[in-house]
Amino acid sequence: MRIVIAMMKHETNTFSPVPTPLERFGNRGLQSGPAAIAAFRGTNTPFAAFVDLAEKEKAEIVVPVTADAPPSGPVHADAYRQFTSAILDAVKKGCDACFLDLHGAMVAETTDDGEGNLLSQIRRVAPDLPIAVALDLHANMTNEITANANVVVGYKTYPHVDMYAAGEHAGRVMLGALRKETRPTMVWGNRPMLPHTLRMGTHIPPMKDLIDMAVAAEADGALAVSVFGGFPLADIPGAGLSVVVVTDNDPDGARTIRDRILDAAWERRQAFVYRSEPLKTSVARAKGLTDGPILLIDHADNCASGGTQDTVAVLAEIMRQGLEDVAVFGICDPQAVAELIAKGIGAEVTVKLGGKVSMPSIGRQGEPLEVKGRVRAITDGRFKVRGPMATGTTISMGRTVVLDTGKVEIVITERHSEPYDLGCFQSVGIEPTHRRYLMLKSRIHYRAGFAPIATHIVECDGVGVTSSDMSLFKFEKIRRPIYPLDETAEA
Ligand SMILES: [Zn+2]
Repeated sequence: MRIVIAMMKHETNTFSPVPTPLERFGNRGLQSGPAAIAAFRGTNTPFAAFVDLAEKEKAEIVVPVTADAPPSGPVHADAYRQFTSAILDAVKKGCDACFLDLHGAMVAETTDDGEGNLLSQIRRVAPDLPIAVALDLHANMTNEITANANVVVGYKTYPHVDMYAAGEHAGRVMLGALRKETRPTMVWGNRPMLPHTLRMGTHIPPMKDLIDMAVAAEADGALAVSVFGGFPLADIPGAGLSVVVVTDNDPDGARTIRDRILDAAWERRQAFVYRSEPLKTSVARAKGLTDGPILLIDHADNCASGGTQDTVAVLAEIMRQGLEDVAVFGICDPQAVAELIAKGIGAEVTVKLGGKVSMPSIGRQGEPLEVKGRVRAITDGRFKVRGPMATGTTISMGRTVVLDTGKVEIVITERHSEPYDLGCFQSVGIEPTHRRYLMLKSRIHYRAGFAPIATHIVECDGVGVTSSDMSLFKFEKIRRPIYPLDETAEA
């Protein structure tokens, strides 16, 4: 048996000014063949699960590409073409199955539906090929995806700590079908609703309720039930919540499960709306708390949702209100990194930090913050993830500097990197459990590494293209009406 296994992942924020050229896919390696297998073996990723399953089957494994980049604007046309043609070429050479580790919310310059477009191209050259796909919980589902794959399974956790499990699940169902033990049949559906990312954490309702229903339906015999919260910062027709159900040759049963979960989602639509308090109030509230570490979540500029990771509104407010014993992760500012490295460790400096990237989609110019401090550390910015999310993968933040103002230690990086693992601090000599405050540019993924050490969590509404104020974004292509953009939307 010959199995093609590939990874092509990008969550595209169509409002993000951050470009997505081929080079951005280098964070965890644009690789192929045995090098790709070696890079991801033992990691908490669907790809690693696919490899393990294929090896157990003693299959010949072909890996045309592993491509993964942090979220940003639409994927450049040449990068998208390179990934898709590598996968297509491998399939054309002949194979018995295809296992794909995709995201589900990829928009390229040439298509609004990166995954659906890839899958339909594969279908054209291999009409009967069994195709299993693992997708992110933030996938925006389309007909193209479900019509051109045999099995689709999504993560059931946010933070995504079950990536391997989702891949194992998709691959296992596909292999069962190849052995003729089952006949997977798949349906999907959605409701006109665009849940907020900050309301999709799977540890609490409303998302937890829906995931619990999916798990119960699987325990009841469905082959796979996935709830996708969707990625709302994508101005494409299909953005929003959806459900995909795979049953063993029982399409009616699949439709019943789908509709039950979608009805429950629609009933909870108000609970999927995020309401924030003013930034000043949040920081003042944090100042009144005594025991730490207290997490200050700068959610409007989350690079793992397409943020520039260089807005300074929350940092500026923290400094204005005089919070002490704060560690900040992080500001992505290659120019400041170069300046500070040139000054050297121990140097007293004044630097214009962040604010280098304008955000035309929300009508904001970059606004740097002048910061005085001492260069405390300089590192290569590489560390291996030890925590529960993407365990075992290597994070490459680019050259990294710690700037210490006396009250606030700021980690400044060359590359985008969301703080979901304690290693982002520990690798630069900061012990996060010893700090009173940790400011994190994150929305929910921080929970993977930081929720277990936190005494309080304060969400801080700053500035950026991952703002939770949906009225900032001009949607033109999304299907309308859709809740909560349109209060009157009906199921
Ligand atoms: Zn996600």
